[in-house]
Amino acid sequence: MESFRNFMQGRYGFDKLGLFIIIASIVLSMLSRLFWLPLLNWMAIILDIVFIYRFLSKKEFARQRENRIFLEKFEQAKEFIHRDRKNYNYYRCPVCKTKFVTPKNQTFGYTSKVICPKCKNEF
Ligand SMILES: [Zn+2]
Repeated sequence: MESFRNFMQGRYGFDKLGLFIIIASIVLSMLSRLFWLPLLNWMAIILDIVFIYRFLSKKEFARQRENRIFLEKFEQAKEFIHRDRKNYNYYRCPVCKTKFVTPKNQTFGYTSKVICPKCKNEF
């Protein structure tokens, strides 16, 4: 264990981008086996190499920068996927348990409460 610690001294190790690369590599190699696409397996191997390279890298700042850029892009991707959700309110009626969605700017006329479309319960 001591020698491993010495070996890892000053090396970058693990971060979120590393985790993402490993997961992507596992997914690609599974897909490659599932659909008989050897190309995907090669991509998985390349990802493994990138992961090991970053893990053992001594250029901490460069790796941190990559990680930061990755996290930014990842947040942007999440925003992009969830962009529609933001414009809607999601409700679950406490009486009949119906789930329904209304646009954010929709009002229910005389009441500021939400009216269930099924049982007309206000909550
Ligand atoms: Zn209801």
